[in-house]
Amino acid sequence: MKTVYVFGAGASAAEGAPVLRDFIKIAYQYFKEENYSTELDIVWEFLEHFHGSKIVISHAEDLKIFPGLEDIFNIVDWSLLQNQAFSMRFPRPRLHELKTALVKLLSMTLDKSLPSYNGMHQSFVSGVVRGGEEEPTFISLNYDIVLDNAIRATGYLPEYGFYGNHRDHLDYNRGIPLYKLHGSLNWSYCPLCGEISEHNEKVAHLLFKDKLTITCLNCGSDNSQAIIIAPTLYKSYDFNRLQNIWDCAYMSISLSDRLVFIGYSLAPADTSIIATVKRALNTVDKKREIVVINPSEKACQRYRQIFGKDCRILSQKFTGELV
Ligand SMILES: [Zn+2]
Repeated sequence: MKTVYVFGAGASAAEGAPVLRDFIKIAYQYFKEENYSTELDIVWEFLEHFHGSKIVISHAEDLKIFPGLEDIFNIVDWSLLQNQAFSMRFPRPRLHELKTALVKLLSMTLDKSLPSYNGMHQSFVSGVVRGGEEEPTFISLNYDIVLDNAIRATGYLPEYGFYGNHRDHLDYNRGIPLYKLHGSLNWSYCPLCGEISEHNEKVAHLLFKDKLTITCLNCGSDNSQAIIIAPTLYKSYDFNRLQNIWDCAYMSISLSDRLVFIGYSLAPADTSIIATVKRALNTVDKKREIVVINPSEKACQRYRQIFGKDCRILSQKFTGELV
């Protein structure tokens, strides 16, 4: 039985990662209150300006009345896509700058908030791998490297699928497939040669610092960028290697007998994922089991809407136990 495990934000949240709606507040605590970092000033300036009249933000609690990171990304991306300014103070060049700062905020906050030992992921992956499951494959919508580290802890390397197709990645002498559809904190993209370099450690939060450069492992250029597909309605996946990862993920779902969703809410903003999963299931018509681990009744209802009433729904948090 071939199983594909799809990990969403809820799985990382179980290990201590902040959920999206709390990101801005937590970032404020870390990078304004505790350790002031000027790199995110444009974000605080934008929020103070957001309600029209100047509001002074002086404490993380003041951010409660503002929309979350997802809404801010959507507004900024929409303005950029439409070739519009947000205001006199935020013309397009500043919106570009703000977008970079928001991605930076995301990677810096994740870098700081996750503990290095992630027991639930480790016991889960170790159970799957040592349990002798036939060709398990992991897909992650998270940028953090919790799942990557859990795979490494079993003695295997994660096979990210930058090249080749899914069938090539089932030879476990090389690694265990881990397709990260929204990018990863330990990847850097080189705009010169178009390759993604994989690093053992997180690098995304460093890639925005002026004095720090990450060298491309392929061509040696030092202009690398982060690959973090922001949580917005207007996602773009225009990196060749990332397209290959999506194709691998599509193929793995298509060949699967069992699809297990862990802590993933099927948010309407994830149309690209929902459409890809549905297309994969429709390509090879076979009886599959769909298992959902999610404590939110609203999320479970989404699964019934998208996949029908036969999903096996476990209304519980991710604990690392096998299902
Ligand atoms: Zn390069």
